Amino acid sequence: MSQKNYHIETLAIHAGQVPDPTTLSRAVPVYRTTAFAFKSSQHGADLFALRESGNIYARLMNPTEDVLEKRLAALEGGKAALALSSGTAAIYFTITNIAKQGDEIVAANNLYGGTFTQFDAILPQQGIKVNFTPVNDFPAVEAAINGKTRAIYIETVGNPGLDIADIENYAAIAKKHHLPLIVDSTFTPPTLLRPIEHGANIVVHSLSKWIGGHGTAIGGAVIDAGNFDWTDPKFALYNEPDRGYHGLRFAHDLGPGNEIAFALRLRTVGLRNQGPTLAPDACWLFLQGLESLALRTAKHSENGLAVAEFLKNHPKVAWVKYPGFNPLASKYLPNGANGMVVFGIKGGAKEAQHLVDNVDLFTIIANVGDAKSLIIHPASTTHSQLSEEDQIKAGLPPELIRLSIGLENKDDIITALDDALKLI
Ligand SMILES: *Cc1c(COP(=O)(O)O)cnc(C)c1O
Repeated sequence: MSQKNYHIETLAIHAGQVPDPTTLSRAVPVYRTTAFAFKSSQHGADLFALRESGNIYARLMNPTEDVLEKRLAALEGGKAALALSSGTAAIYFTITNIAKQGDEIVAANNLYGGTFTQFDAILPQQGIKVNFTPVNDFPAVEAAINGKTRAIYIETVGNPGLDIADIENYAAIAKKHHLPLIVDSTFTPPTLLRPIEHGANIVVHSLSKWIGGHGTAIGGAVIDAGNFDWTDPKFALYNEPDRGYHGLRFAHDLGPGNEIAFALRLRTVGLRNQGPTLAPDACWLFLQGLESLALRTAKHSENGLAVAEFLKNHPKVAWVKYPGFNPLASKYLPNGANGMVVFGIKGGAKEAQHLVDNVDLFTIIANVGDAKSLIIHPASTTHSQLSEEDQIKAGLPPELIRLSIGLENKDDIITALDDALKLI
């Protein structure tokens, strides 16, 4: 595609692709192959030594994946992107592409449950300590940073509190301490929010949610803004010679690639040697999702706001949280606040479960970001291992119900909720 400054809706459909040069196929072909032929032994040698870029083996890259990666980089305003086998893998390989044994991370404490467990239980087993701080508590973030800190990690919109992180304040602290700011933007796809414009250095996504958009595949992505200087010796993985590449130092020896040292290291070390590859068929599903992303996030946002406003005025509802009601929304979410709505029903767990069991149209499910409207009572499902006291500490009172509002007609969604509320 030409280098014109197309708008985001256009990039979501075209970035990273031209009709296939051999077959002229208009849609992105699914390249179901394990490996790619070398033109000569010299060609193979140049690819292996990173003197030339190209396809070697599909654990590392695949032309279907390449379109997805280029498109995601363009949508987020980054310099490079990698697709990985899940959002969880994208997060894990991002952290371990920066931090090693003895290093520390500072993270917000309102993270997606799986990420929280990875940071709280798995990374410490590998000698990486995570210091959690309350979201948007900037004195606490400053206090948690020390000489071993290697990154700051936040989510744009936390779950289930649906708070909005003040990304620019986090970015300022990260810059002051020369640390990369990593932002999980799963709840705010790039048609709604582009964290790099607010100072993020690395963006991670679970593609399994709104980007795929139809609940059909698991995948993840990492976008490198190409705006972080890795030559500071505290980033040992970038400054010490790499044994896997004849002593290459990723922050110094890649020429123009030094700018995207993070992404190149993630591919040539994380993907190559640890293997969290995304299959080409899944890449294709995510490309299909991206083509309608702008339309879908506009509709999710319209429906989400309508449901949140309906619930706010309902006599059987105690409280409602919607990112669009947050004062930070005008700055970070001017194009819509997506489809997540959380509310408390008057009463407690019994009333909440009664509503979940009797609502039409919604599916009871531990997922978000589908075209279909989804509902869950976290206290009795996703967070049932916690005591009621710990649930309340985690921001999950027994009356809390989480909705992921889909793309159905909003009057049908509201009628379904209204009918179920009448039964309580
Ligand atoms: C779902 C999710 C993840 C994990 O992604 P998977 O693709 O399920 O591994 C990480 N972060 C957030 C915010 C999520 O919603």
